Formats: sequence, C-alpha cells, structure tokens
Amino acid sequence: MKIIVLGAGVSGHTAATLLKRYLGKKHEVTVISPNSQWNWIPSNIWVGVGAMKSQDVTFPLKPVYEKLKINFIQAKALSIHPEGNSVEGKSFVTYEHTAGERTGKKENLTYDFCINATGPKLNFGATPGLGPEEGFTHSVCTYGHAEAAARSFKDAILRMKAGEELNFVIGTGHGTCTCQGAAFEYLFNIDYELRKEGVRDKAKLLWISNEYELGDFGMGGMHLERGGYITSSKIFAESLFTEREVQWKTKAHVTKVEKDKIHFVTLDGEKSFVKTDFTMLIPPFAGVGLKAFSKSEEDITEKMFAPNGMMKVDANYVSKSFEEWNPNDWPKSYQNPLYPNVFAIGIAFAPPHPISKVMKTKDGIQISPTPPRTGMPSATMGKAVAKSIADMIRSGKKNPTHTASMAEMGAACVASAGKGLFDGGAASMTVYPIVPDYQKYPKIGRSLRYTTGEIGLAGHWIKTLLHYMFLYKAKGNFGWWIIPE
Ligand SMILES: Cc1cc2nc3c(=O)[nH]c(=O)nc-3n(C[C@H](O)[C@H](O)[C@H](O)COP(=O)(O)OP(=O)(O)OC[C@H]3O[C@@H](n4cnc5c(N)ncnc54)[C@H](O)[C@@H]3O)c2cc1C
Repeated sequence: MKIIVLGAGVSGHTAATLLKRYLGKKHEVTVISPNSQWNWIPSNIWVGVGAMKSQDVTFPLKPVYEKLKINFIQAKALSIHPEGNSVEGKSFVTYEHTAGERTGKKENLTYDFCINATGPKLNFGATPGLGPEEGFTHSVCTYGHAEAAARSFKDAILRMKAGEELNFVIGTGHGTCTCQGAAFEYLFNIDYELRKEGVRDKAKLLWISNEYELGDFGMGGMHLERGGYITSSKIFAESLFTEREVQWKTKAHVTKVEKDKIHFVTLDGEKSFVKTDFTMLIPPFAGVGLKAFSKSEEDITEKMFAPNGMMKVDANYVSKSFEEWNPNDWPKSYQNPLYPNVFAIGIAFAPPHPISKVMKTKDGIQISPTPPRTGMPSATMGKAVAKSIADMIRSGKKNPTHTASMAEMGAACVASAGKGLFDGGAASMTVYPIVPDYQKYPKIGRSLRYTTGEIGLAGHWIKTLLHYMFLYKAKGNFGWWIIPE
C-alpha cells in the first residue's frame, strides 16, 4: 500500500514516522513537504529574541527520512484527486517541486491513503500592513520570521541603551486569530530580555488581542484552583500582566498597520490607534489552499474543504448557536466524510466551530478567537490516524479504529522566558479537556484537577526539556517512539 503524508510539521512528521514503524517494509510511506527542514515551532519564540539560532530549532528532513526508509519529496501539494482520473480510478495528489532541478515542475503521485497535515497558511494579507514581508510587523511563526524579529529587537535594545524610549506591541493581527499562547509567550520573553539588558524602564509594553478578556487563549478561558480558591484564567493573566507592567487592549481587531502605528476597532465601538516601534502580531490562519477534483475534473474543493480552506473531517458542521455547541461536535477519527482513505490532522482539519463565544461588532466584524490546535493535540491526532490507517490496511476495513477528540484530551502550554538553567521563569498551564464539557464538568466545563496554572522555574525546565526531547524524537534517534507525543 502507498500512503502519502502532506506536510512534515508536528502532526505530519508524527504520523509518517509512526506509520512506517507500524507498517514496516511491505508498505510505502511518502512525505511531500515544501521545506527541507523540520522546525520545532514552539522554540521559535526563543529565536525571536535572539536566545537561540535557527539551527537550534531545525534539522534537515532528508537524512532522517532516509534512515527511517520514508520517501521524501520536497514539494508543495496543489490538489487532491480522491477518485483518480477518468482513465484510471486510482487516487492521486498533484504537487509542485520546490527544490533542485525540478523546481516548479508539477507531478502526480498515486495513493491508497492520504493524510493532509499541511498546517496553516499564515494569512498576513487579511490585514493591510501585517507581516514581515509586505508589511511592518514581525512574526515568530517561522524560524526565518523569528530571526528577522530578533535582529530588529537587538536594534531596539541598542536604541534604548542610547536613551530612547520605545513602544512594543505584541498580540494578534486580526479579529479572528488563534495562537494567542504563542504571542503571550513572546511578550514575556521580550519583557525578560529587556530586564536582562537593563532597559525595561525605557520600554512600554502593550498586549493587543482579539480575546474578549485576558486569559481566553481561544479556549473561552478556564478556571483553576489556587490556594483553595477557584479563580479564572482572566485573574491569573491580569495579575501576571500587572506584575510585569504590561498594558493590555483586548476585544481588538487590527484594521491596518503602518510603520509606526497600529489601527484597531474594538467590540465596544472604539476606533483608535497606538504608536509602535517594535511589533509582533500573529496573523490569522487559513488552510493552505489545496484544491480537490473529481474523476471528471469537476472542482469539488467546496465539498471536501470548509470555506477557510481547512479540510472537512468527521465533525458536526451544522451551524449552531453558542448555547448548542456540544463536545460531540468535535471530530474523533479525522477521516474525511466523502473519501474514507483521506484524513486531515493538526491545523489542517476544519473545526466544527470555535471554543470561545463568537462576538461581533455592530458592523458585523468578528472579534473573537478561532480554536487553537496546539502541538500536543496535533501530534496525538497524528498518532491516532497512523494507528487507524495501519489497522485499516491490515484488516481491509474502512472504519478508523483510533480516536483523538479535542473534547477528550488535554493540552499543556508552557510560556517560558529566558534560556538559562536558573535564570528563567514560566507560566505553565494545563487544560483538560480542551473543548469544555458542561455535562461532565457542570458550571466550569473542565476538570479542576487537571486544569492548572503555575508560575515558576519548574515550568521553564519543562519547556527546555521538551525542546531537547522533541528534537531528539523527531530526528528518529534511538528509542524515539518511546517518547510520548
Ligand atoms: C510561535 C509559535 C509557538 C508555538 N508554541 C507552542 C507551544 O509552546 N506548545 C504547543 O503545543 N504548541 C505551540 N504552537 C503550536 C504548534 O506549533 C502547532 O500546533 C503545530 O505546529 C501544528 O502542527 P501541524 O502539523 O498542524 O502544522 P505545522 O507544524 O505548521 O506543519 C505543517 C507542514 O505542512 C507543510 N506544508 C505547508 N503547505 C504545504 C503544501 N501545500 N503541501 C505540503 N506540505 C505543506 C509545512 O511546510 C509544514 O511542514 C506554537 C505555534 C507558533 C506559531
């Protein structure tokens, strides 16, 4: 059998390496991905402040895939043809080479199973002036972007050392962003480095975000038990911000960015701008723009994908009000409902609806986060789908055997600042389940036992350990499969 994995990120790399391990020599696993490098994206935060280099968070994929006997094609997938063409009924993928002599050349590859793990399109185009290439803001979403941010951050430090006072704005660059956790972590790394350099008093730090209130994180916020009291993540985050003298502007949709100004509107009707000298704003995410065609070359993209370009899977996509949202709406097996040999995992699958309540301005502009799909759930989905496909191949059955619903799994987020062993700090949060379940956990929707928040050095150690552990695992080093996702 031939299995194609589109994308070599957190979810695709997990699925491909495990599939090969489960299936052995008899079956062929091919990864198609445009970049030659694997990137441990969570550590891009440290690259973005100059505490790490690109080489510390990446490695070349080719030697790893050669070692693990996985085929690697450095290319960008363009379209999926799940019914094959009119001559041959064999499903195939069309891709375009992105490296070597064949750069730009299009080719087809047939498959028995296909996993779409193409992650997000960083949709900088959604806000004029957003992004490092055509706009005025930095990003830490790729290691290249993070390196550019670090260069500019160093310049800013030099200017402050020379006596200037500067404004730093960190957050989300559009009303529908997700991934607030990454921006939050970057903010605290900036604060940490500024203190270390002795220029914190010269910097004004502002958090701008589409969250309804601090601590929402695209998960509708959460409740934690601390010192015998139940407190909300809003209080937790507000005390962190206050302690570190960071100001905040929530409920905000960035409408336009200029070189030194960020324009925004808020849910409360405020239309204003803030001045900035250094900006890092996460862009909104969309699907990467894969197309789908039927046997007769009819464009079936709208049938296979949601309007945001993410692939439909076994979720309940019926439009519902916030009050009707149900944990069972969330996908379990990640199998495409039309084509049982196609799966989508990680950021590539279309969620049924957000987790945070959808909020709009009077003019209908959405200012509320879309749902996060962090690394741990993405890798867990990769593992579940790899297990299901291996079982389906062995048994010849069409039903997946493994599940990984975000309504039944937890996630951990460690926002860590600093890189040293004794001089770092972290806000560590765990949440269970990611999608709240008000039937199982009345009133607050989540387990108070497994939803936690701590501040201290221990979390920083965990984040550092995770960095080395996941790089070790992803490189396919000895015993890699024992390390959990
Ligand atoms: C700055 C930052 C910090 C983060 N920190 C954390 C953290 O601390 N903890 C945590 O759990 N999560 C964190 N996350 C989230 C985490 O990185 C994502 O959840 C995870 O990377 C999603 O995995 P994925 O496989 O869906 O996508 P990705 O890891 O983005 O992988 C997508 C892959 O698809 C490839 N691709 C793109 N287009 C195509 C195409 N057309 N054809 C073929 N391949 C394609 C890409 O090159 C890439 O290899 C962070 C994210 C960011 C941006």
